[in-house]
Amino acid sequence: MLPQGSMHAMVLEKPGQPLVLRTVPIPAPADGQVLVKVIACGVCRTDLHIVDGELAAAKLPLIPGHEIVGVVVQKGKGITTLREGETVGIPWLGYTCGSCRYCLRGQENLCEHARFTGYTLDGGFAEYTVAYESYCFPLPRRYANASGSPLLCAGLIGYRSYSFTGRQAVNLGIYGFGAAAHLLIQLARSENKNVFAFVREGDREAQDFALSLGAVWAGSSAQLPPEKLDAAIIFAPVGNLVPQALEAVDKGGIVVCGGIHMSDIPSFPYHLLWEERVLRSVANLTRQDGKTYLQLAPQVPVKTTTTSYPLHQANEALNDLRNGRLQGAAVLVMDST
Ligand SMILES: [Zn+2]
Ligand SMILES: [Zn+2]
Repeated sequence: MLPQGSMHAMVLEKPGQPLVLRTVPIPAPADGQVLVKVIACGVCRTDLHIVDGELAAAKLPLIPGHEIVGVVVQKGKGITTLREGETVGIPWLGYTCGSCRYCLRGQENLCEHARFTGYTLDGGFAEYTVAYESYCFPLPRRYANASGSPLLCAGLIGYRSYSFTGRQAVNLGIYGFGAAAHLLIQLARSENKNVFAFVREGDREAQDFALSLGAVWAGSSAQLPPEKLDAAIIFAPVGNLVPQALEAVDKGGIVVCGGIHMSDIPSFPYHLLWEERVLRSVANLTRQDGKTYLQLAPQVPVKTTTTSYPLHQANEALNDLRNGRLQGAAVLVMDST
């Protein structure tokens, strides 16, 4: 039995060490925040980078997790739209200042004072969490359960990356076929894109998974595709893929790096970038990305493939993600604890 007012959480106490199951107080919502009983929280590659200490700004101790689906159970002061009992999604972007030069020009994803769920704010690897009302997304009914959690980062970041590849792109390469890719391919197929999936050398299962979701070709990331690409998105955190993707795109092609962390990019000859090829990264998300994506996803409809773990097996989920032993997305489901 838990003491009253307390909850289970998987806590990062020190980077480089596994998460620890702790009993901690249920947080109280501050002004503008709601208390949310977590139904499920997806496990994202960013969580791995945080746990491994590759992203250095994490608060400590930290409850990771930024793909949260849960039910509002208590409101702090000043809540205007959310109701108790409402199911919401809580994404990576947890707070922005609204007044810095980035916020003022519509780039709140780059806010100088941004706070991030499961990184600089406690997240969803716990039975409860608090979140600012204006950063919670109401969820379409079909996603108001554990299956919706991967949409909140893998889906959203995939969508933001895709939005930079250009409407006219038809042949789209995706490097790394994990959680983000399996969601994005469904949206891209619905818009008649030809998706070329690049997976780890010899990962037959990932190739088959990509083909089953409608990829026109699936092969190793060391290969060149059978046709020139108009654009490519790199989800795998592997810097070597940057020159490979640039080589695979046609003149004027766009290569988007969708991850928050990547190993060093090797030097490459200028001719790979020449002829107006574009290389760019994507950082975080805006709330508008979330609204737009959560309207689009049910129309496709995007279906999530998930592997569920109980809360106390968060380390196993992280390890399976690290070792590529998953198809689709890992999700911590609270009731199965
Ligand atoms: Zn700002
Ligand atoms: Zn994420």
